[in-house]
Amino acid sequence: MGAWLLRGVKRFPGDPGNRYDLRIDDGVITNWCNAGRGDSNDAQVRDLDDHWILPAFVDSHLHLLYSLEHARQLDLSNLTPESIRSLLTPSDRVGDAATRVVGHGWKDPLGEQLRPDPRRFLDSILPDSAVFLWNSDHHRALVSSVALESAGIEPVGHSGVVTEQDAERVWASLGPPPQPDAAAASRWLLERGITAATTFDRGDSIECLRRENSEGQLGVRLRHGLPECQFLEILESGAGCHPEGGEDSSFAMPWIKIFLDGTLGSRTAWMKSEYDDDPNNFGVVRRTAETLEKTARLAAEHGWALAIHAIGDAAVAEANRWIHFTRELRGSDLPDRIEHFQCFDPADLAAIRQAGSIASMQPCHLFQDRKIIESRWGSRAAHALAMNSIDEAGIPIVMGSDAPIESADPWLDIDAAVRRLDRDGEGNSFYPQQRVSFEKAFGWRTAAAAFANMLPSGWGTLEPGSVADLQIIGADDPSQVRCVADAKLIDVFSLGQWRLGDREDR
Ligand SMILES: [Zn+2]
Repeated sequence: MGAWLLRGVKRFPGDPGNRYDLRIDDGVITNWCNAGRGDSNDAQVRDLDDHWILPAFVDSHLHLLYSLEHARQLDLSNLTPESIRSLLTPSDRVGDAATRVVGHGWKDPLGEQLRPDPRRFLDSILPDSAVFLWNSDHHRALVSSVALESAGIEPVGHSGVVTEQDAERVWASLGPPPQPDAAAASRWLLERGITAATTFDRGDSIECLRRENSEGQLGVRLRHGLPECQFLEILESGAGCHPEGGEDSSFAMPWIKIFLDGTLGSRTAWMKSEYDDDPNNFGVVRRTAETLEKTARLAAEHGWALAIHAIGDAAVAEANRWIHFTRELRGSDLPDRIEHFQCFDPADLAAIRQAGSIASMQPCHLFQDRKIIESRWGSRAAHALAMNSIDEAGIPIVMGSDAPIESADPWLDIDAAVRRLDRDGEGNSFYPQQRVSFEKAFGWRTAAAAFANMLPSGWGTLEPGSVADLQIIGADDPSQVRCVADAKLIDVFSLGQWRLGDREDR
């Protein structure tokens, strides 16, 4: 890998008045010293006149290969319901593209022509195709008769709206996605200053990323969750099933990923009391205590950590209960995480801190969800993505984008935590007492997220002895950056190499 001397840089976090030379040997930070004093012996030299060096980012929760697949699907997000017909009818669709029509991004309310029976509407346009249209939160879908039939569901009398497990069942029956492109997906991360990511995708993604990143060829440190159903299937087949990799691995898979509930957008997040705008609805409980106990015992026995999807306050409490149970049984301190942690009951925070659960949050969900949180959760909105309260309770936090549900831009996610404004950086701050400092949010995307993502100790600190996963930006002041375009990203160094080439012209 060799040695590098980076000359004349500013260090963030740090003192903006100083200029440093930074020496890297074989991908590890070896020395910071005042500018002009760096040791260039046997090193390649790069003059970085006054640019900032920052630790690179980690995205603690996204769907990596699916993000690229998503970009190839029909995008319904900016359509009026009435224009869905024209999007679905292009005449040039042939072969695979004609038999399997996938889209995403619709939101409530459904357009007139889709009610009350979206299936009939879809059948009227594409009677021979399996049509599958995800809601923007990917927990509900509109499907055609052919799609239902492929999952063995009788279409006659079915509305064509499927939620949660049923949506996943129909989705799975449509067959494998187009060939995943791990190199393109990794490049997409690097172009956002991201050199590590935890992804939650399906089994085919695990095989692909494990193979393609066995030696870190992709330039990013990848972590994966193993879906609970796959874990149980492997054990039932009689095979062993153990976590893969450690903090120094370029690919590791330490978690069993469990879904406890749904989402706010689909009114399926599991709440302790009913939805304000939907009496008697408490959301959806996707696992019984019995099945959870079985999975938790097996996970502990085989040395796995847990990553549990929990959005509603009841789901967050229940996720913590099973994390506590698993940690006691397993006896080792692994990064057990509650994914999303969108709404909590303040009475539960002490138990969550004691159990050792990590809150894996996506403040960028505020951009979309702020429009519906108060109507659905009423006064509980005060505890929605309430990062300051969670931090003050002593619960570790890490941040991610949940891409493709939200933008993968890490600066947007940080800005959402710091200002809690709308997507354009305007409007009122949503429960402003829950804003956190830029330094805090930046840490939850860098050094403070290392353990939760099973990254090498010291990752994200840029201290001597730690791995040199870093980014160089041309912006004047990192703490004023709102999006990756503002950052003026010049280059990224990870796993011992420059990744973007010279982008100073950008
Ligand atoms: Zn997700």
